[in-house]
Amino acid sequence: MYQDDIDWYCDSCDAHLNRQDGFTTTTGSWECTRCGSINNVTEDYILSEEEAEEIYREECPK
Ligand SMILES: [Zn+2]
Repeated sequence: MYQDDIDWYCDSCDAHLNRQDGFTTTTGSWECTRCGSINNVTEDYILSEEEAEEIYREECPK
């Protein structure tokens, strides 16, 4: 799996980061050119469904 195949979206404004000027994942983070928020763009950051579920459970008090 190549990083180029991953679609990255801004956590804050949902902009498609891949299409922004000069976008790269090599630095591990990217500043959204639309809203200026820093997004983590490392492969490690991609959660498996299982991990995402666990985090959801931890955050939800019920
Ligand atoms: Zn943004």
